Amino acid sequence: MDRRTPFSYVCNACGLCCHEKVITLAPYDVIRISRAAGISTGQVVRRMTVRRGSILKFGADGACAALSGTRCGVHEGRPLACRLYPLGLQRATEHAKDGRDEMFVRLEPARGSLGVYGDAGNVADFLEEQDADEYLETNDRYRRLIPRLRSRIGELVDYEKIEPHEFWRRATREALAESGYDPNALIDAMFDADAVVGRRDDPEAEVFVHLAALAIRIGKTTDAAELASAAVLLAVSLGYSPAEAVGATLTR
Ligand code: SF4
Repeated sequence: MDRRTPFSYVCNACGLCCHEKVITLAPYDVIRISRAAGISTGQVVRRMTVRRGSILKFGADGACAALSGTRCGVHEGRPLACRLYPLGLQRATEHAKDGRDEMFVRLEPARGSLGVYGDAGNVADFLEEQDADEYLETNDRYRRLIPRLRSRIGELVDYEKIEPHEFWRRATREALAESGYDPNALIDAMFDADAVVGRRDDPEAEVFVHLAALAIRIGKTTDAAELASAAVLLAVSLGYSPAEAVGATLTR
């Protein structure tokens, strides 16, 4: 499905779709959840996420950590994946002909869901209703850090001496680990914006200074493994595969 495909969906707040999901979070999702929940981004990471801020936490009963009864407790700041639901977004590493690298798929409704599917509009209308474009555009700004990370890694790593496949395999394993991972100050800085730049009332203002601060930290980081894990986790958190972080390194 693309933006012109007929689609509509009415949520009837049954709360069933807020159970037993894997919901990937980008840095901007964490900022927006923190504003809606009235807590810091660091508290969101610790209380409501796994994998260092990049996946929303679900409890033993299968319910999302933000669910309150059958309602979303952070509705104003709900993550992009929740805004898109029941559509899923698939990203391609290469940009499509129209300049977009997105494709939408219709997800199966939760069993017993009261949501109503239809074709009263199209995908673009649905994205507008959900204020999803603001998230997509902000994620694109964070995505621009990936080439910067790759370039810094290129300055530090001699692929004549370090086997590139093994280097990136390790980085991917480390980035995707949900426990037992090494400390990584860059990943912490990506998902805990408040700790890096101080909390701003306006999320947009925080994104602006957060991106600038991350760019400076990337330039100062001297541990290539730390940079590579951060690149992979950033790519995955934005909906791309780890290959987005690796780029052309392995085809040289
Ligand atoms: S963040 Fe809100 S909408 Fe998303 S799964 Fe959790 S409760 Fe549901």
